[in-house]
Amino acid sequence: MAETVTNWAGNITYAAAELHRPRSLDALRALVANGSRVRVLGSGHSFNRIAEPGPDGVLLALDALPVEADVDTAARTVRVGGGVRYAELARRVHAHGLALPNMASLPHISVAGSVATGTHGSGVANGSLAAPVREVELVTADGELVRIARGDARFGGAVTSLGALGVVTALTLDLEPAYEVEQHTFTELPLEGLDFETVAAAAYSVSLFTDWRAPGFRQVWLKRRTDQPLRDVPGATPATHALHPVPGMPAENCTEQFGVPGPWHERLPHFRAEFTPSSGAELQSEYLMDRSSAVEVLSALDRVRQTVAPVLQTCEVRTIAADDQWLSPAYGRDSVAVHFTWIADTEAVLPVVRTVEEALAPFAARPHWGKVFAMPSPAVRELYPRMGDFAGLVRELDPAGTFTNAFVRGLLDG
Ligand SMILES: Cc1cc2nc3c(=O)[nH]c(=O)nc-3n(C[C@H](O)[C@H](O)[C@H](O)COP(=O)(O)OP(=O)(O)OC[C@H]3O[C@@H](n4cnc5c(N)ncnc54)[C@H](O)[C@@H]3O)c2cc1C
Repeated sequence: MAETVTNWAGNITYAAAELHRPRSLDALRALVANGSRVRVLGSGHSFNRIAEPGPDGVLLALDALPVEADVDTAARTVRVGGGVRYAELARRVHAHGLALPNMASLPHISVAGSVATGTHGSGVANGSLAAPVREVELVTADGELVRIARGDARFGGAVTSLGALGVVTALTLDLEPAYEVEQHTFTELPLEGLDFETVAAAAYSVSLFTDWRAPGFRQVWLKRRTDQPLRDVPGATPATHALHPVPGMPAENCTEQFGVPGPWHERLPHFRAEFTPSSGAELQSEYLMDRSSAVEVLSALDRVRQTVAPVLQTCEVRTIAADDQWLSPAYGRDSVAVHFTWIADTEAVLPVVRTVEEALAPFAARPHWGKVFAMPSPAVRELYPRMGDFAGLVRELDPAGTFTNAFVRGLLDG
């Protein structure tokens, strides 16, 4: 491949024989029909080899396709193209007085790539970003267009699908009337005596941050919808300056704080679309567990914090409502998610990732599909009761294994 393609973080250089940027759906279908091994690259914000086709394969980037985000105001839906990012989608949806129910920490990521990996924001009543998806349009290995809508028996495997079923050329999402959000930030919340359920439900979306250098949390971010209440976080101190989740990074990269109301898409993400999100030089890992174990999970991490802290930039704790996507890390259980922004040093970070996985093993921790994890594939497979159904769907839609790769093969057969 003439062009070297890396992920956003730069820790992965994708092995591929060819890279194509089709300019039309017809060109895309022809490329797929001619390729024996194909993977799609979204916005490349994953930290592992999930998007890699392998040395003989074709990598398809969809960023040269026309940007489609067609809003149906009467039906309150949007049909969004397979290469579109949330920043663009949100702008278009908001212009019609409509909104998505939630967003991740950054708007820079593609919609198709995000829902493929179970990407999520926070909120005890908010599902992952896959939750509003009502229909998926896929180009399968023979170049045919397949539509799978909510209600179809295959839908449970079709949204959070790791890119293993075909090229997602469009998704239709449910919308709701636009709303405003305020961010209220606090510093220092003790772990001792933490009433996690009360804190997690204090606002529409809640994030707790810690560097694990001391017990407890350094920051608490409450994102309150102005049409919903804001509850007290007992023991937290109101912030006196604007915060960035990574200590020492400039708060100007972050969305507006101090309770200033603003449109949903300019408050739900932590990071502004026009700035580098997070720290920029980093690796990430994340694990989802049953929310009812949150306090035990945080205590287990507190016990290994002296191992974790030296390679950690920040750790974020969020919640996600249960869903029924077979491969969603929040499948079947209201979840607490513990995220780690590590330093950008794979060799130093991997042993600590193993320590964290050992600490979280008693809680059946499911790793985020787009982040760094060390658990062997058979152990990951065990965590998903519908994995067999997903394997069946892959065989049905992709019998020749055109869209498989080492990551997916390991998971299904390894
Ligand atoms: C700074 C930063 C902050 C983050 N914050 C969050 C967060 O708040 N919450 C969270 O859950 N995650 C977060 N992530 C992780 C990120 O959301 C996921 O890695 C997500 O998959 C990124 O989408 P992408 O388009 O970049 O995916 P890619 O890495 O490009 O692709 C991911 C997978 O989707 C497949 N894919 C992409 N597009 C298509 C398509 N059109 N058709 C078929 N398959 C496709 C790829 O083949 C691959 O398997 C963050 C990552 C970064 C770098």
